[in-house]
Amino acid sequence: MTTAALIVAAGRGTRLASAGRPKVYLDVAGCSVLQRTVAAFAAHPAIDRTLVVIHRDDQAMYGAALGPLAARIEAPAFGGETRQESVRRGLEALARHKPRLVLVHDAARPFVGRHDIEAVVSALEVQAGAVLAEAVTDTIKRAGIDRRITETVPRDGLWRAQTPQGFDFAALLAAHQRAACEGRSDFTDDAALAEWAGLSIGVVQASGVNLKITTPADLALAERLARDAPMAWEPRTGQGFDVHRFVAGGHVWLCGVRVPHTHALEGHSDADVALHALTDALLGTIGDGDIGQHFPPNDPKWRGAPSHLFVTDAVRRVRERGGRISNADVTLLCEAPRISPHRDAMRARIAELLGIGIDRIGVKATTTEQLGFAGRREGMAAIALATVLLPTA
Ligand code: MG
Repeated sequence: MTTAALIVAAGRGTRLASAGRPKVYLDVAGCSVLQRTVAAFAAHPAIDRTLVVIHRDDQAMYGAALGPLAARIEAPAFGGETRQESVRRGLEALARHKPRLVLVHDAARPFVGRHDIEAVVSALEVQAGAVLAEAVTDTIKRAGIDRRITETVPRDGLWRAQTPQGFDFAALLAAHQRAACEGRSDFTDDAALAEWAGLSIGVVQASGVNLKITTPADLALAERLARDAPMAWEPRTGQGFDVHRFVAGGHVWLCGVRVPHTHALEGHSDADVALHALTDALLGTIGDGDIGQHFPPNDPKWRGAPSHLFVTDAVRRVRERGGRISNADVTLLCEAPRISPHRDAMRARIAELLGIGIDRIGVKATTTEQLGFAGRREGMAAIALATVLLPTA
């Protein structure tokens, strides 16, 4: 019993054509419209599968817009001439997974609320279809071609249909296939098609802003909404700590930098105590175990391995969750070697590994006043903190 999300992104968005690319690939406050929309569904506990229908020409933009998020959802399906045809193709692509329910959503609505998605899914327990909608509160006028009002339309019972629109999967697919057979291509949304097929459809009152980006003014409003929505990104902080023992040798690896020293650090890999702590800090932000779990120290594959591999793997895991690394801060505990001559090289190397600016990287060192194992120069320790922003969906 699964619920699939079908996100329709195959339109050309001609009203925003001056932007040079379809609107769903445009950037809103540092994140594409499509990435925001997909993240809302892919990270939602009520949604088991997410599939995007795109235009065949947009494959490269799709990959660039979603990044690692693309690997966490179904491969995209290609749309058709009309929205209706695109939805049908998306449903046909999902059919092999036999979902019980499907939510169809316009990619141009990136601010769909977590609770609204839940409400539509819940409404499907008692009816074959449920549409997120807003009761009309404005007075509605009908005007002629000369803009002269001919009628005030009673607004009682009028709703503005939005998306997501949820349906029994098999019933919606059958309705779409029947419409295609009968040459009907004039339905403006899936609910209209499902109504035509005789399904019972309810409305679910939308609780929040569910802006549909259509015009340049909408895009500007979306930019403001995204910037004013601090909850759109949830900050996560992770911590890492590591210790390695000094043994005979002539250099140590610290923060990915080779530092000449009177000793080496002992370890299965290159024993870069700082990058090990940093790896654990990054994994901590997403609750994804620790370095020893992903790279078992008894696995001969990692003998002498450069520790940047571990950091890079943790960065990949964070990015696959849609996360953005905000900053990292490393403190080394040792009497020697001296860190300050290498500090900026270390910061630069970490900045490169994390893909963020060097101004977001701290590298600090302290002695332990000759106390404890570090003070006796038996080994050294590193503490790392990392902050990641995760989309809250
Ligand atoms: Mg270690």
